[in-house]
Amino acid sequence: MLSGLNIILVGSLFNFKQYIWLLILSALAVWQAFEVTGWDSKIHATLEFSPYLIISFGIFISVFMNRMLPVLLLLVIGLLNFASFNYLPTVIDSQTFSTLLLFVIPLLLPINIIILSCLPEKGVNLSFYNIFISVVFLLQIVMVIFIMDFLPVNLVEVFSYKVNIKFINLTMSVAIVVVLSWLFIIFRNAYIENIKEVDRTLVFVLILMSLAFNQIDQPYVFTWLSAISALLIVIAIIFDSHKVAYVDSLTGLNSRLSLLENFSSLGRTYSVAMVDIDHFKKFNDTYGHYVGDQVLILVADELSKVSFGKVYRYGGEEFTIVFPKKSAEQAEQELELILSNIENLELNLKQEINQKITVSFGVAQKNEWHKKPEDVLRSADEALYQAKERGRNRIVVYEEELT
Ligand code: GH3
Ligand code: MG
Ligand code: MG
Repeated sequence: MLSGLNIILVGSLFNFKQYIWLLILSALAVWQAFEVTGWDSKIHATLEFSPYLIISFGIFISVFMNRMLPVLLLLVIGLLNFASFNYLPTVIDSQTFSTLLLFVIPLLLPINIIILSCLPEKGVNLSFYNIFISVVFLLQIVMVIFIMDFLPVNLVEVFSYKVNIKFINLTMSVAIVVVLSWLFIIFRNAYIENIKEVDRTLVFVLILMSLAFNQIDQPYVFTWLSAISALLIVIAIIFDSHKVAYVDSLTGLNSRLSLLENFSSLGRTYSVAMVDIDHFKKFNDTYGHYVGDQVLILVADELSKVSFGKVYRYGGEEFTIVFPKKSAEQAEQELELILSNIENLELNLKQEINQKITVSFGVAQKNEWHKKPEDVLRSADEALYQAKERGRNRIVVYEEELT
């Protein structure tokens, strides 16, 4: 329990940066939610179709990126927004059946978001899995539309018991479910490996949509909050697809593409180190690819501790470190510490591993002979080759005589 709490506190503090855009946009959405009703009628006209526009765009790119979770989330938001215009009552009236919808849907929403967020992503296709999820969704809609009519009206009174805390005016049952869902998602996000940006939006979408139900008696608030919720998901999908190209999924390091693009922004002085794990093939061949992957992750973590350089996964078991404003000697000094740290690494696996992890470094700096980053990289690679020749587990700095 304590360690769980610790992960949440440390984890969320550590990741605070990654939540900033969500916090800012959600704060803006909540602040304006109290003003929307008074906006000009021309803006209202635009606002009316904006959720559908954002949702269509979001679904288009989700399908393109082969991601089912955002497609379903966006469909749910679109459907709720449609219902808010056409079916949902705007006043709580204990004589009307449909008032119950105002309590049942906000209950179903967090439950669905939780279940969706826990299901594995299997892409957008007509698999049995996706059809099953879609049928469950349709059944809920059918249930909401038809079965509600058979529920006794006096349930409204039970459901509409309100908790009043300043602004918050949710019904008790809804408030409990929403709070439990937030806690669940926050816990889940703290533990999940490779958390996606869309996962981070879930808590915020839930907050905004709960507020939308809460303020349903005020025109256009629901539409405004649906539009912003959809926007959060669309931005998250874009961030996620950016990550696919620029971040290596195994090690979490920046990718080769990211390295090539950053080349253009290097200054007048810099050094580059090429890193290659020694006898890496033996890890794979002797202990299997899983162990090989663990070695890669461990080495990547160790390399990331470099203070003045930026680390990239160049490909396979090769990494590149760029040291802006540093000479090759300065880079070498830093790398010496890393070399000995890697030598002392222990794999924390059930399997007994008898092979030591070591790496070789080749370092080169920008000078008058190699002006272009690609040339510096090639020289670092030549130096790396020398390091391998001279027995591995060492650093070799490129000198002209090497060639
Ligand atoms: P040397 O000391 O000369 O560098 O020897 P080596 O065995 O490390 O060199 P080699 O280049 O022959 O081996 C690289 C191997 O890395 C081959 C490839 O199967 C493996 N590999 C590349 N990418 C991955 C990966 O993502 N995961 C795993 N497990 N293996 C990978
Ligand atoms: Mg290699
Ligand atoms: Mg190698």
